[in-house]
Amino acid sequence: MNKFVKKIVASALLMCLGFNFAACSSSSELTVEKGVLTMATNAAFPPYEYWENNAIVGIDAEIAQEIANRLNLTLKIEDVSFDSLITGVQSNKYDIAVAGMTVTDERKLSVSFSDSYATGIQSIIVTEDSPITDIDALIDGDYIVGVQIATTGDIYMSDDIGMDRVEQYNNGADATQALITGKIDAVVIDNQPALAFVAANPGLKILETPYTIEDYAIAVNKNNEELLNQINKALSEMKADGTIDAIINKYIPA
Ligand code: GLN
Repeated sequence: MNKFVKKIVASALLMCLGFNFAACSSSSELTVEKGVLTMATNAAFPPYEYWENNAIVGIDAEIAQEIANRLNLTLKIEDVSFDSLITGVQSNKYDIAVAGMTVTDERKLSVSFSDSYATGIQSIIVTEDSPITDIDALIDGDYIVGVQIATTGDIYMSDDIGMDRVEQYNNGADATQALITGKIDAVVIDNQPALAFVAANPGLKILETPYTIEDYAIAVNKNNEELLNQINKALSEMKADGTIDAIINKYIPA
């Protein structure tokens, strides 16, 4: 090594030790904790992630487990609030966020996204006797809309009707309860959890016209291209061999 190269290596090492250790270590090791794939999610989003018998289950949990198996890693799942998923991946607290997370241009500024593994639709839940018939009626009226904080439902509704008419809740179940008790007029949320919440609560319905159609993908730290590539490779094999379809069909029967 010549003097100049030595100097660069030394200062890079100092930078790693000083304030950026996690980001530097991810280039030599695949995951934050060696041999472990740490996934963050918000387990209040059936059928993608929810608690059952003291375990987090669902489409995302099973897809992540399968990816971990194929990458020879042990999966560890952490249940956190939806609005801390992206920052947690960004700061290398978690390797990945798998949470029915929609790919958006704004989120792409903070994290990398894998190839998409599923499609989501923003749906509108109202009470059975509601005068709201479609998205235009919802936007044009002076209705109050409940959303899950920091989700695309929250972001798009705040853009379309202004934050004054949007009530943020920690999860979709809380927003649904607020609709039932008449605190709000509608809930905008992804279609699959919407179906689950309506099935669990009589007197509610989902409007036929969807609000938006979106792609779900896995969020990975921007500096961890190696992990991103390995996840994409596993995903493409899982699409080809029918694993993804089998997992989705198990939770969403055709
Ligand atoms: N798909 C929505 C989003 O990414 C909601 C995801 C969720 O609530 N888990 O914002």
